[in-house]
Amino acid sequence: MKLYNTLSKKVEEFKTLRETNSENFPVGENPKQVNMYACGVTVYDYTHIGHLRKYVMDDVLVRVLRNAGYDVKHVQNITDVGHLVSDDDEGEDKMEKGARKYGQSAWEVAKKFEDYFFYSMDKMGVLRPTLSCRATEHIQSQLDMVLDLEKKGYTYIIEDDGVYFDTSKLAEYGQLSGHDPRHAPRESRMGEIANKRNPSDFALWKFEKAGENRQMVWPSPWHPRSFPGWHVECSAMSIEHLGPQLDIHTGGIDHIAVHHANEIAQSETYTGKKPFARFWVHHNFLRVDGEKMSKSLGNFFTIDDILQKGFEPAALRLLFLTSHYRSEQNFTLQSLEANQIAWRKLLQAYLLVKKNHHLDAEISQEAEQLAKQFFAFVENDLNTPEALTVVWKVLKSNLSDSDKYHLLLEFDRVLGLGLVSMDESDLTKGNEDLEIKDLSVDLQKLFAEREIARRNKDFVTADRLRAEFEQAGYQLVDQAGTVVIKRKATH
Ligand code: AMP
Ligand code: ZN
Repeated sequence: MKLYNTLSKKVEEFKTLRETNSENFPVGENPKQVNMYACGVTVYDYTHIGHLRKYVMDDVLVRVLRNAGYDVKHVQNITDVGHLVSDDDEGEDKMEKGARKYGQSAWEVAKKFEDYFFYSMDKMGVLRPTLSCRATEHIQSQLDMVLDLEKKGYTYIIEDDGVYFDTSKLAEYGQLSGHDPRHAPRESRMGEIANKRNPSDFALWKFEKAGENRQMVWPSPWHPRSFPGWHVECSAMSIEHLGPQLDIHTGGIDHIAVHHANEIAQSETYTGKKPFARFWVHHNFLRVDGEKMSKSLGNFFTIDDILQKGFEPAALRLLFLTSHYRSEQNFTLQSLEANQIAWRKLLQAYLLVKKNHHLDAEISQEAEQLAKQFFAFVENDLNTPEALTVVWKVLKSNLSDSDKYHLLLEFDRVLGLGLVSMDESDLTKGNEDLEIKDLSVDLQKLFAEREIARRNKDFVTADRLRAEFEQAGYQLVDQAGTVVIKRKATH
C-alpha cells in the first residue's frame, strides 16, 4: 500500500507504527492496526457536496486498507464549538453564527447538522467511523492539554482574549506546508489578533468577550466563561482515543497551513513524541462550475439537491471516483449526468451477470489478472480514476458472467457504490418527472430550442433534438400539450 504523505511530500510505502516499531508494542497487539483520525465537519450548516467528496475519499481509504488486511480504527470528530469564522483566532464562533441564522440554540443547530451529516454519509454509502466524537463532550481532556502546555511554559495569556501557544518556543513549526510562517513578515497575515507575540501563535483557549453573551461556555482557571480553540479539540480527542502517535491523519488541503500545523505543535509538545501523525493525507477541493465552493459563499448543493434533480447518490460517488483525491475536481451538472449514465450502465451489467453467474464457477486466470491490476491502482495512493478503467475493461471483456460477477463485487468492496444491495427494482427507480431547472444549462437551451421547433410544427428538428436528449440519458414524452422529462432508467 502506497500513500502520499504531505509531511515528506512523497508517495511512501504505508506501514503502521506497530509494523515499524514492533518491539515497543505489547505482545498480542495487532501490528496491522491503523489508528486513523479524520477532521470532521463543523456542524453549523448543511453538509454540502464538497464535504461529500472529502468523506467519500476517506471512506475509500478505509475500505482499501481494510481490504488489504488492516484493522482500521477510524476516529472522526464533530466540531460543535470553537471553530471561528476566520479559521484563525478572529471572528465569531461558527456555531453561534449558525444559531442566529437558523433561529435555534447553538446546541440545537449542532444536533440538526450532525444528523444531516450522517444522513448524507449514509446516502453516499460512507461507512460510519469506528468512533465519532463531539468536541463539546471532551472539554476536560482539552483543558488538561492546555494546562499541561501552560505548565511546560509554552503559553501566554492575552487579556480579555485567550490563552495562546507561543510558537517561537518550538525548534520547528510549519513542517507540513514546507515554510515556517514564524519568519513571515507581520503584515502578511490578515485579521491578526493584537498583542500576539508571533504572527503564527494561536489560541488554545478563548474567553467570552464583554457583552458577547455566548451560548457555549465553560469555566476554566483563566476565565469563568470560556471555550476551547478549534485546533486543541482535534489534538485532545485524537490522543485520547488513539494514543500519542497516529498512523494517518486526514483533512482538506485548507487545513495544512494553520489547523494541522497547530495540531502538530501542541500535540508533540504535549506528548513529547514525534511525529504526531506519521501519514498526513490531504484532500483537494471540489469546485462548482469553476467557483470555490464553501458554506460561506452559499454556492453549495446538498445531497437532497442532488436527489431532487433525479440523480442517484451512486452517480455522485462515481463522479468523485473519476478524479484523484489530490487533484481539484470541478463539479458540473453535465459531469453528473455523464456519471448517472455510467452508473446505470454498470448497474445493468451487474444485474445481468448476477442473474447468470454460477456460485461454484472457478475464477479464470484472466479475471485474476484484472483483479490484480485493479488493486494495484487503488493501493497506489488511491488511484481511483485508473481503477475505474479496469471496471470498464471487465464489462467489455469476454470473461464469463461468473468471472464478471465475482470481480464487480470484489471491486465494489473498495469503491463502495453499493452493488451488493442492488436488485432489479433499482433499475426502475429514479424515473420521476424532472423539471427544466434540474437539467444542465446546455440541456435547458436544447429544451428551449425544441419547444420552439415543436410549436412551429417543425417535427424533424423536434425529433432530432429529442434524440440528443436520449443521447444524454433523458426521455422526453410529449403529453397533452406539455413535455414530461424523465431520466432514462437504462441506457
Ligand atoms: P468544515 O465543515 O469546514 O470544518 O470542513 C470539514 C472538512 O471538509 C474539512 O476537511 C474541509 O477541508 C473539507 N471541505 C470543506 N469544503 C470542501 C470542498 N469544497 N471540497 C472538498 N473538501 C471540503
Ligand atoms: Zn481537525
